Amino acid sequence: MLTSEAIERNLKAVHERVRAALERGGRGEDGVRLMAVSKTWPAEAVEAAAEAGQTLFGENRVQELQEKVPALPGHLEWHLIGHLQKNKIRKVLPLVSEIHSVDSLELARQIDRIGGEEGVHPVGYLEINLAGESTKYGFEPGTLEAQMEDLLGLSRLEIAGLMIIPPLRPELEATRRDFVALREFRDRLEAKFGVRLPGLSMGMSHDFEIAIEEGSTIVRVGSAIFGPRGG
Ligand SMILES: *Cc1c(COP(=O)(O)O)cnc(C)c1O
Repeated sequence: MLTSEAIERNLKAVHERVRAALERGGRGEDGVRLMAVSKTWPAEAVEAAAEAGQTLFGENRVQELQEKVPALPGHLEWHLIGHLQKNKIRKVLPLVSEIHSVDSLELARQIDRIGGEEGVHPVGYLEINLAGESTKYGFEPGTLEAQMEDLLGLSRLEIAGLMIIPPLRPELEATRRDFVALREFRDRLEAKFGVRLPGLSMGMSHDFEIAIEEGSTIVRVGSAIFGPRGG
């Protein structure tokens, strides 16, 4: 694990890069939230970031959330960013305020139903598999359009917007296409279904600046803050 000083330094640098990207994108100063992805790192790393002012953290496994959330200050906010198994929904709902990985209608329905049983109103992003990669979770665009009315009819689950994990591309700048495509797909859904989908969850350590230039409202940044995982 990096020292607390290094984590604080990294956070500052990321904030500065976020600010510069907002400016390049011609966007306001408050247009994007920074999520610190703390998966695989111990509670101490989260504490160091929290002491440097970070309040929003992301995890991809329910078990890790179950361990970390109770061990850390109560004012911190947690989001789930990894695939959610249906039998873990009830466990995760009290731990997170948003789920970025709503990747099927069936999962959305279960989150909606269990949210009702638990008396909570979950907030989710629809994960989109724009490139049709068979190895990845997420809605393919055509499927989502066909299922959108059903999704919008869910009474408990609030859909904040769309999320993407773009394919790794040899040239970073090529990823801009994926972010633009997600934004345009969102615009198309808004027009077609007469809804607002303001959230665009896009951008990780290697590409968050491009994502912000293209309209990201929340970036999920891990290694640029906490250092390389497993290294
Ligand atoms: C791990 C992860 C991130 C953060 O990745 P970094 O490259 O470390 O910034 C972002 N989003 C998702 C869905 C992840 O699983």
